[in-house]
Amino acid sequence: MNNYQTIVDELKKTNTRLLAVSKTKPISEILKLYQEGQRLFGENKVQELVEKYPLLPKDIEWHLIGHLQTNKVKYIAPFIACIHSVDSLKLLFEINKEAQKNNRIIPVFIQVHIAQDQTKYGVVEIPLFEILEYYTADNSGLKNIEIIGLMGMATLTEDEEQIEKEFKKLKSLFNHVKETYLFHKENFKELSMGMSSDYPIAIRCGSTIVRIGSLLFGKRS
Ligand SMILES: *Cc1c(COP(=O)(O)O)cnc(C)c1O
Repeated sequence: MNNYQTIVDELKKTNTRLLAVSKTKPISEILKLYQEGQRLFGENKVQELVEKYPLLPKDIEWHLIGHLQTNKVKYIAPFIACIHSVDSLKLLFEINKEAQKNNRIIPVFIQVHIAQDQTKYGVVEIPLFEILEYYTADNSGLKNIEIIGLMGMATLTEDEEQIEKEFKKLKSLFNHVKETYLFHKENFKELSMGMSSDYPIAIRCGSTIVRIGSLLFGKRS
């Protein structure tokens, strides 16, 4: 059995979906996984996604997981299924604007900074709460986006306790947001956390979607 089937079987016992992270990987390898039944794929660069999208079957759900610049939203707004990496109100407004132009609603995650290292993107608590206050205001005008969850990346470390602590923090922040801001939004129910190296811990901590690349496709060069 290959890694894909092993992971799919593992996830069957849980509430967690698999996002196959295909960044840097060629069309042929994506198609191989597609033929095994995978439909959710994630990319981290707009340019790469825009090149791959027309070459692959249209029933693939494409998720953007990498940092997104406001001036690039327009290129993916017509087809993107979901954006995991929203980290500012400015970006949220831009996605809303482009979604409106395309006459659709784009589901998004707010990316939260949970790791120790400084380089990872994402908002911390106060900016997160500010975004949510805007979003829940009656006059926000944010009618073409829907916040469906929180996304986070743990510190790259061997220390499993540290990773678990960070994922638990994101889960409890999710609960707080649900109770305080989004109790009336039934679609706010997703936690995007867990990658090749730490997804079993993420699942234990309540992840609903794991983003797995190298374990499925092999190491990236
Ligand atoms: C590349 C990437 C992943 C997948 O990483 P792997 O370690 O290859 O599983 C997950 N999330 C984000 C945001 C990524 O950029």
